[in-house]
Amino acid sequence: MRLQQKIALVTGAARGIGEAIARLFAKEGAIVILTDINDDLGQSLASGIGDTCEYLHLDVSKPSQWQHIQEHVITKYGRLDILVNNAGITGFLETEGPHDPENLDFASWKKVNATNTDGVVLGCQCAIKMMKHAPAASIVNISSRSGIVGIPGAAAYAASKAAVRNHTKTVALYCAQQGYAIRCNSIHPGAILTPMWDAMLGKGEARKAAIAAVAADVPLGVMGSPEDVAFAALYLASDEANYVTGIELNIDGGILAGSAAVPSQKS
Ligand code: NDP
Repeated sequence: MRLQQKIALVTGAARGIGEAIARLFAKEGAIVILTDINDDLGQSLASGIGDTCEYLHLDVSKPSQWQHIQEHVITKYGRLDILVNNAGITGFLETEGPHDPENLDFASWKKVNATNTDGVVLGCQCAIKMMKHAPAASIVNISSRSGIVGIPGAAAYAASKAAVRNHTKTVALYCAQQGYAIRCNSIHPGAILTPMWDAMLGKGEARKAAIAAVAADVPLGVMGSPEDVAFAALYLASDEANYVTGIELNIDGGILAGSAAVPSQKS
C-alpha cells in the first residue's frame, strides 16, 4: 500500500498507460480520480476498479475544464497529493498532418501542442494551487523518448514532449524555491504497446511483423508494457521518491542508452 491515503488524479486514464497507472495506484491504496475525453471507456474502467475511484471528463487542453476539476477536487477531497499528466496524442489519427518539419500542417501542429504541451502546463498550474499546502505532493509528467531525440515525421509530437521535459524542471525548481512540498519529475517511455500504436501497426499478421520490427530496434528486444511505465510512475508518486525532483526517468528498454551507428567489435 505505497500510496495509502493519497488523492491521485490521472489524465488520459481511460486506456493504455493511463489505465495501467490508475489501476496500480488504486491497488496501492490511493483514491484515484480518472479523467479522459473518452467518457464511456473511462466510466466503465472506473466502475471496474471499484469505489476507491471516480471518473470525470477532462479535456486537458481546456483551461475552463481544469478549473472545474480543481473546484470538484477541493470541494470533495480538500486537497490533491498526486497528479499524473499522462494524456497525449501523436497527431497521426487526430489531425490531418503532415508532421515533418518541411511540410507540416500548422493547424495539426497546434492541435498536438494544445494537448501535449498546453495540457501539461495547465495541469501543473492547477496542481500547484491544489497541492501547495499538502505535506508531500508529486507531479509526474509523461513525456517521451521523443522529447529527448528528434523524430523526422513527428515534429509537433517531439517538440511538445521536449517542452514537457523542460517544463517539468521549471516546475520542480519553482516549487522548491517557493518552499512548497511538491516534487515534479518526467517519465520518458520508449515503445510501449498501447492502442496509441494501433494505426501504425496494422492488423493480423502485418501487426505481428510490425511489432517484431519495432522490437528489433530496442536493446532489450521487446516493446514495453503499460505496467512498465506505471511502476515508474508509482515510484515517483510515492513518498519513497521524497528526495527526487526535476529528474527524467527513461523507461525505454535501453533505446536512449546509445546509438546503433557504431562498428561492431571484430574478434
Ligand atoms: P493512448 O492513445 O492509448 O491513450 C491516451 C488516452 O488519452 C486516450 O484515452 C485518449 O482518448 C486520451 N486523450 C486524448 N486527447 C486527450 C485530451 N485532450 N484530454 C484528455 N485525454 C485525452 O496513449 P498511450 O497510453 O500510449 O500514451 C499515454 C502517454 O504516454 C501519452 O502522453 C503518450 O504521448 C506517452 N507516450 C506513449 C508511448 C507509447 O509508446 N505508447 C511512448 C512515449 C510516450 P481518445 O481515445 O478519445 O483519443
